[in-house]
Amino acid sequence: MTTPGIVFPQQDHCPDCAVSIDEEHVDGCDVARCIVTGLQQLSCLHDHDCGIDVWTGRWPGDADCERLGLMIGPGLPDVCRLYLEATWDPASRQWIVPT
Ligand SMILES: [Zn+2]
Ligand SMILES: [Zn+2]
Repeated sequence: MTTPGIVFPQQDHCPDCAVSIDEEHVDGCDVARCIVTGLQQLSCLHDHDCGIDVWTGRWPGDADCERLGLMIGPGLPDVCRLYLEATWDPASRQWIVPT
């Protein structure tokens, strides 16, 4: 888990499975998201193919919080609010706020 209040800048390698940016996460990686639900692939209980996620250089959700303005403060994405208020769009692989 990340420590709340600390935002890491772009990282060249996945902090869990150590792949480079734009590379697929290794099976069982903590950081990989299910591309169907947008949530952690490791804890996805659905009977479906969770798809292949790649390391983007940032923690899942950080960039979405910035885009949607869900920030606790400068540089502090409010990921909890993102999961509460936004909806995962599997087609674009990003969180959107329903209008
Ligand atoms: Zn990974
Ligand atoms: Zn899944």
